[in-house]
Amino acid sequence: MPDERTSVTTPDAAPSPLLTAHAQLASAVEILGYDDGLHRMLATPRREMNVAIPLRRDDGSIELFSGYRVQHNISRGPGKGGLRYSSSVDVDEVRALAMWMTWKCAVVDVPYGGAKGGVTIDPTRYSTAELERVTRRYTSEISPIIGPERDIMAPDIGTNEQTMAWVMDTYSVNRGYTIAAVTTGKPLAVGGSLGRATATSQGVVHAAAAALADAGVRLDEVSAAVQGFGKVGSHAARLLHEAGTKVVAVSDEHGGVHAPDGLDVVALLAHVADGGTVGEFEGGQAISNTELLALDVDVLVPAAVEGVLDADSAARVKARWVVEGANGPTTTEGDRVLAERGVVVVPDILANAGGVIVSYFEWVQANQAYWWTEQEIAERLEQRMAASYGAVSSLSRRESLSLRDAALVIGVRRVAEAHQIRGLYP
Ligand code: NAD
Repeated sequence: MPDERTSVTTPDAAPSPLLTAHAQLASAVEILGYDDGLHRMLATPRREMNVAIPLRRDDGSIELFSGYRVQHNISRGPGKGGLRYSSSVDVDEVRALAMWMTWKCAVVDVPYGGAKGGVTIDPTRYSTAELERVTRRYTSEISPIIGPERDIMAPDIGTNEQTMAWVMDTYSVNRGYTIAAVTTGKPLAVGGSLGRATATSQGVVHAAAAALADAGVRLDEVSAAVQGFGKVGSHAARLLHEAGTKVVAVSDEHGGVHAPDGLDVVALLAHVADGGTVGEFEGGQAISNTELLALDVDVLVPAAVEGVLDADSAARVKARWVVEGANGPTTTEGDRVLAERGVVVVPDILANAGGVIVSYFEWVQANQAYWWTEQEIAERLEQRMAASYGAVSSLSRRESLSLRDAALVIGVRRVAEAHQIRGLYP
């Protein structure tokens, strides 16, 4: 593919997330029998913005950061996707994440395209005031291409509810009135939705329960390990624990903790809320992230970063189910190894879609200025996750596809249909 934005360079052995995303799309395109022109349209981001973000630090010095917003597809509705702050963010990672958002929104049939944003910054090294200035400048720079009808942001790695409040405020102040629907995952006080903070994790638990049910197994009969103890992983561990699953290990970027008889997840949450790292928790033995992935558990939930399940680590996985809380945690080779070994992978674009489903609810509520109860949100989330899982699972059985290929086929086909029905302008 000659377009620079669809080319993928891999400087070292580790496949880039974009390479994985392109390989997944190619697999779906082959199953669907689409021609090269349509493949190229589906592979290429519609719009991208690269911005320089100068920051005046608290000590008066100036630093510059790179920021990106990629709108991979906007054929089914506005772009939708998170904003990531991490020192490893680059434009190819943002492109991959934006593409996954496109398929995800289509799989769960919310009326959005896919987008993603990122700033190459380690947020742990900057004060709250500095992060606010970075966020406001980034928002101002990309403001021509975002908005409730154009592209709606949400939290991702390194960002949170407060970040979304700053984005919403900056965008609103510059337009002269409050526009709550420009972001989701906001605090309740400024138009956030009940249930949004735990929606991704709740969706992961619904997806896990549905996959287990296909094999006649219940959540309270299994053990689990969760990688990542941030917004997704911590609530996934807690909700699994509440559902009766024996959560034996969790980790963060510094390492993990393992208790074969089950962790006291509530005490661990309190320990982390007090500023501790997962590995320092005294209710179990310290383990590495590599060891966590290879634990003898039934369910493995990668809920941290991309590419952790490659061919090597996948060969050591003992879990029977991998439920992808993170985006892109499994490489193409990792997928192949897991499939050969009979591990059921519930793919990211389905398993972690609870977040975008409730983001959609938040956007609908903000547009209507009419708020739903927590129960309404929980019920509608559960219905949409069940319907989406059911469609993917039955296509997978009918056509002998992996759950990933089945989800991709459903998502890619919906986006392609939108392209074809709208027609090519001019
Ligand atoms: P977060 O920043 O709140 O938490 C990330 C967690 O991962 C932290 O515990 C961090 O210590 C850990 N981590 C980082 N690097 C790691 C590494 N190399 N090994 C092990 N652990 C590591 O981020 P989050 O919002 O929980 O996002 C986690 C994943 O879920 C990402 O892939 C994100 O794209 C995806 N996701 C998030 C949402 C959402 O609503 N927040 C929705 C869908 C998907």
